[in-house]
Parts: sequence; C-alpha cells; structure tokens
Amino acid sequence: MLGQMMNFPLTIGSLVDHAARYHGTTRIVSVNTVYGIESTTWASVNANAHRLGDALTNLGLRPQARCATIAWNNRRHLEIYFGVSGAGFICHTINPRLFPEQLIYIINHAEDEVMFIDKTFIPLVKAIRDKLTFVKYIVLMEGRDEESGNEINGLIYYDELISIGSPEKDWPDFDENTASSLCYTSGTTGNPKGVLFSHRSTVLHSFASNTRDCIGFSARDIVLPVVPMFHVNAWGSPYACAMVGAQIVLPGPRLDGASLVNLIEKYRVSIALGVPTIWRGLLTEARKLDTTLGSLKRTVVGGSACPPSMIAEFRDDFDVELIHAWGMTEMSPLGSSNQPLAKHFDLPISEQHALRENQGRPPWGVELKIVDPSGVELPKDGVTQGDLMVRGHWILERYFRQTREETLTDDWFHTGDVATLDNDGYLSIKDRSKDIIKSGGEWISSVDLENIAIAHPSLEDAAVIGVHHEKWDERPILVAVPAEKHSPSESDVLTIFDGKVTKWHIPDKVVFTDLLPRNATGKVLKRNLRETYCNILID
Ligand code: AMP
Repeated sequence: MLGQMMNFPLTIGSLVDHAARYHGTTRIVSVNTVYGIESTTWASVNANAHRLGDALTNLGLRPQARCATIAWNNRRHLEIYFGVSGAGFICHTINPRLFPEQLIYIINHAEDEVMFIDKTFIPLVKAIRDKLTFVKYIVLMEGRDEESGNEINGLIYYDELISIGSPEKDWPDFDENTASSLCYTSGTTGNPKGVLFSHRSTVLHSFASNTRDCIGFSARDIVLPVVPMFHVNAWGSPYACAMVGAQIVLPGPRLDGASLVNLIEKYRVSIALGVPTIWRGLLTEARKLDTTLGSLKRTVVGGSACPPSMIAEFRDDFDVELIHAWGMTEMSPLGSSNQPLAKHFDLPISEQHALRENQGRPPWGVELKIVDPSGVELPKDGVTQGDLMVRGHWILERYFRQTREETLTDDWFHTGDVATLDNDGYLSIKDRSKDIIKSGGEWISSVDLENIAIAHPSLEDAAVIGVHHEKWDERPILVAVPAEKHSPSESDVLTIFDGKVTKWHIPDKVVFTDLLPRNATGKVLKRNLRETYCNILID
C-alpha cells in the first residue's frame, strides 16, 4: 500500500452535525404554521434531528422506510430532512397542491409508512386517509393539539415524538449510495414518477451549489428559500446551507409579496431563492412600499424561464444580482447557473447584461449535450437547437421502481427540453420539446416570445402556444393576462414584438384571459391552453 486518505461516507447526517459543531449558535428563523415566528439555532435543529432519528428507530421502522412530509418551509420540516435521512430512512417530500388522486397514488407507490403533516393539511389528509395502504403513523408537526387529534384517529404529535428520542444518539453507519430522499415529478402527463436521491448525490450537489460560480452560500449569508421544501428539496438549499453554516429564514405558508418583503427587511436576508412568479409579487409589493430591499444582494431564479426584464429590474432598481439557474427534479435539481467568465468583463456593459439572461453553464459534475431526433450530437454554436441530454453525479439513473433502460437513452438522461449550447457551455432553454412551435417546418421558441411580452408594462403574464394552421401546420398565438388597470388591444400587444423578432415569429393572434392555468409547481399548463385554443385560427 503506497498510502491512502481517510474514507468517510458522504452523508446528510454529517452536514447537520457540522453545522451544529461549528455554527451551533447561528440562527434559524421559522415562520411556523401555528404560533408565529420562532428563532432557533443549528445546534437545536441538530439535537432535534438526532432525537427524531432515534424516536423513529424506536418505533421499529426498518432501514429505508419512507417517511412523507406534507409541510411548508419551517423549522420542524428542516429537522425532519436531517433526522429522517440521517437515521437511514427516506424523506419523501410531497407537494400538497397535487390532486387528491395523485397524492393517493404517490403515497401508496412510495409505500410511505409515516406522514409528517402541518396543521394546514389536516383536512387534506383526513379526506384520503382510508385510501393510504401503508401509512402506520401520522405525525402533526406541532405540540399536542386536541382539535387536530379529534380529526385524525391516532394522531401523534411531533414535539412529543421527539421528546422520547435522544439528542446524543449517533447516526447509524451506512454506505453513501444509500437512498436519502424521494421526490415525485409534477407529472403534467401520466402518473408522477419518483426520483430517489442518495446521500452521496446530495452531498456532491451541495458542494457544487456552494461553489462561487454556482450559488455559493456562505456562513455570512442569511438565506431565504422561498422555493418550497416539497419542490426538489428547496433546490437542495437546506443541505448546502448546513454544509457552510449559513443562516436560514424559513418563510412558512405565506409567500405573498408583502410577507416576503417583511421577512427580507426584518431579518436582513442576503440571498433568496424562488420561481419567477413569486418574484413578480415581491417586486410589485416592494415598489408599492417604496423599499429598496437593502440587505438583499443576490436572488436565484429558476423553475421556469426568468424574463430578462425581471433580471434588469432587480439589477437596476434594487441593486440585486439575479442568478438565472436551470435544473429539474431528476437533477437534484441544479444543472446550470448564469455567472460570467473573466473574458466577459472586457465587453461593453450592455453585452455583459445580455449574457446574464440565459440559463448559464454547468458546474463540475454535470455534462450537457444537444442531439437531433436520431441522437446525433449537434454543434455547440449558440444557434443550433436540439434535445438537451445530461449526465453527472446528481442526475437520475432510474426512476423509483423503473429500470435504467426505461429511464436513460444511451446512458444519458433526456431532459425533454429544447436548447442551444455554446462553446463555453452556456445553455439557452427554448422550450419543453412538447411545447415548441413548428411553423412551416421551422421552430419558433415560445420562451423567447413570452420574455418579450412579459417585459411590457401592460401585461402581467403571458404564454405562447402553437395552434393548428391550414397552411403552416402550426402558428403561435399569445395568451395574455393584462396588468392591473390596463386593457390593451390586440394590436397594442402585437406591436410589442416589432423589431424584436423576425416577422414570421410574431404571434398570429392574442387572446386575453384573467389567469393562466398552472400545475402544482407553478408551471403554465400549456396542454390545457392548447386544448382550449387549438382551432382558434381555423374557426
Ligand atoms: P421540475 O422538475 O418541476 O423542476 O421541472 C423541470 C423543468 O422546468 C425543466 O426541464 C425546464 O423545462 C423547466 N425549467 C427549470 N428551470 C428553468 C429555467 N431557468 N428556464 C427555463 N425552464 C426552466
């Protein structure tokens, strides 16, 4: 033996142990579902996580048993993340906005044995309780609460459960490839599919998140994860924050603009993470209140395309750097983030700004390529569009209860996104492949058109879809939501595109609506829009 390094498995329990050991007094603020705002520390979160792991083990759960959560972003949810996974069980976060049939399907498919729920979700769980085949324990994420106890038979109370566990109990030893958590895709078609993360993939993903060209949380940051803990583990932020001992502000159930502005100002939040629709509400409110969001330095935006107008608004009006990131549940989720290269600082400022608009480049650990329909790799020239394929350390190999062959194509994961790549790895997402518009054999990106439309002050929201056309097969139409106190005409809206795109990309029609249909993770349900408007140009 020539020599060797120590070999510690990469485990989630070690992250929270580190946070407690070296950042024990660092604050965790939590907007709780009941009893308002609470301030605690990493030391206390870690102690409770160990208590919980011990208590669950004492209940007789076998290793890898699935423990579901239906909960907001709060302190107990954070403890469950670490306590469940750290003790060798699987933390299955569930999106409460799914339809009841989908909830029943995934809870049974996952074979969840324990369910941790916030008080908000008592009626939801009560309504489906009888259909849940494997659930043995339902735990209310509160202290004793007779009112809730009357609703669900045999309800257990979180605070009582952890009181029987020991804070001294060490995490058990297991291989780093052991599964740690489970999240189902939102499934706009067919049943949702389970994505099982491992301890190793989660820790490596945290390392990558914490590099400076990605998100780069630090012990000096106060982090507001607005992205829900049931949406790809709040983009992995609880793990990445524990790794560096960052402060966290957990926003609880209310994610409206006013509540978020209040939290940012009161707790001096330095970095926030969320989807574009959430930030729209925040920006509108910040303007109304005439606040500067002084402490906020950076915001990470992903989940759907961030309009360039929003990037400019954060930068020019609030002095906030917006990091546009792309990923998916199957990628833990981080696939790319937009940060400049050294050579970009020589460019004129307007070009530097334009370069920050796309979805950025991958960190070490993620490889991207684009291919044509027969799987042949396409040039990385920033222009050619193709199907985006990925592989790497925190990317899905097979869906829960599926085979590798069912999940991968030639050892790569097919994202379902259509994109361009350039030589530096910068990614520009043009569409979901099922949403791209094929007009006379040419592709039109709905995302590019939506970005232009949303930038206009008379529109609050916009989606572009392809609909049947006798001559061109498909043509784009714009479904637009007018901004408050605005009532633009169709021709007003269409002039927005003049000079910004080639003439034949301009939508053929505008229809106005009050609200766009969205799925459980906030993405526009274009399939529904297509069903409604598919023949609008033929009729
Ligand atoms: P989910 O697994 O629910 O997070 O959805 C993943 C999908 O969201 C991706 O495949 C993309 O289609 C879309 N998406 C995520 N981030 C972005 C982004 N920054 N720009 C455009 N689309 C995005």
